[in-house]
Amino acid sequence: MTHLDWEYAPAPESAAIGRIKERYSMFVGGKFVDGQGEDLKTVNPATEEPLAVVSTASTADVDTAVSVARKAYDDVWSRMPGAERGKYLYRIARGIAERARELAVVETLDNGKPIKESRDGDVPTASAHFFYHAGWADKLEHAGYGPDPKPLGVAGQVIPWNFPLLMAAWKIAPALAAGNTVVIKPAETTPLSILVLAEIIADADLPPGVVNILPGAGDVGSALVNHPGVDKVAFTGSTAVGRAIQASLAGTRKKLTLELGGKAANIVFDDAPIDQAVEGIVNGIFFNQGHVCCAGSRLLVQESVAEEVLAKLRARVATLRLGDPMDKNTDIGAINSREQLERITALADAGDEEGAERWTSPCAVPDRGFFFPPTVFSGVSQSMRISREEIFGPVLSVLTFRTPDEAIAKANNTPYGLSAGIWTEKGSRILGMASALRAGVVWSNTFNRFDPTAAFGGYKESGFGREGGRAGLGAYLQEEN
Ligand code: NDP
Repeated sequence: MTHLDWEYAPAPESAAIGRIKERYSMFVGGKFVDGQGEDLKTVNPATEEPLAVVSTASTADVDTAVSVARKAYDDVWSRMPGAERGKYLYRIARGIAERARELAVVETLDNGKPIKESRDGDVPTASAHFFYHAGWADKLEHAGYGPDPKPLGVAGQVIPWNFPLLMAAWKIAPALAAGNTVVIKPAETTPLSILVLAEIIADADLPPGVVNILPGAGDVGSALVNHPGVDKVAFTGSTAVGRAIQASLAGTRKKLTLELGGKAANIVFDDAPIDQAVEGIVNGIFFNQGHVCCAGSRLLVQESVAEEVLAKLRARVATLRLGDPMDKNTDIGAINSREQLERITALADAGDEEGAERWTSPCAVPDRGFFFPPTVFSGVSQSMRISREEIFGPVLSVLTFRTPDEAIAKANNTPYGLSAGIWTEKGSRILGMASALRAGVVWSNTFNRFDPTAAFGGYKESGFGREGGRAGLGAYLQEEN
């Protein structure tokens, strides 16, 4: 066999397309205003260089934003016919599409994800969420929520750093379609793309105060969700913070949805098309550096094909290109923050200590920036931390099974229940497994596919409530059935 020793030429997207400004402000009442919190500096995780300074909210700013959102709700948004609300959502969807290239660059610079993912995944899907929900705005009374479904009021929303723009769209679009107004806090490390979205929202002439964006740290999120003027809380993030929010909201009249962590089983049967399954395994755990709540982080492979799958998987993972997220050929970008890199490193080290076998892709790792090479642990048992805890990084734990019942038992042996994957040729097995798995989303012969029409959400410690589709709208309406 001849070995072709060639390299991809660099294919970097231009950072200038992001038009990143030196300074960004909060977006409150339709205006960009400086908050009274301490400025934060957001860095490019691939270079560790500062990108921009962002003004943050104080508790007083949270008060202001909530009362502005209340006024916009009472005076304008809750009274507007759904067909009119829908027009604004369509405009925002188009605005995202028009500025797609710029948004992709901003997202990649601020988050560290590969440009091909922000360009082909995050940004178009964010636009699709606004398009999809625009279509609902004038049809709510035909959706089975009763003859005259009512919005809840002001939604307080907190989102994480792994899909900053997409999570903003997931949260804002259904809230607005149902007639609520919004105060939303992005993650501290990724505030930029939602502030570009704020410009798009302003250009769409959305009535002032309908969407308010408050950059800041966890204390701003806490002040927001606990604010008495908020009627509905939607949170995506860690199970620990979700648990704290649920405890603090207990006994209040606030409606709550929580989208938390996961430890999904990706189950490969011996009759699966192995090469395709390998692609699905790679996409399941290495997409977005594994910073995905529904990542297929536990591979359950049938014992009779385990050796073959593992060999093919290692060979395939060794071809993944890690490095500059702005390069169009990059598969694995940067870890979003030093803290996250440390968390991943510590959990992977726990895998060594507990006796699993670590395999690391032989790819070169840049000496600047936060990077973690794709890693596959085999010989993993269910009691190990790498099998139980969410690593939220490019680390796969491989377990084996012999029978479908064993696969079900192992897949469900987790405090989480967000997603799962099944790889098999047999349709009946897909259906049987899907109904036995305690997971909100079950993919068959694919993984990590997202669509605004599909309800997404978890069981157990992965949270409750659904986002997307008709079910997601119900979370923003008074009459849910
Ligand atoms: P967090 O849950 O801390 O962050 C999610 C969002 O909540 C951020 O906007 C954060 O602000 C905010 N926040 C933090 N504390 C509070 C609070 N007390 N009340 C309200 N909002 C708050 O997750 P981390 O970023 O710390 O990540 C830790 C781990 O969580 C990861 O390793 C991963 O396992 C998991 N995770 C899961 C996600 C998912 O999609 N399921 C998403 C992100 C993380 P700030 O950014 O300023 O901290």
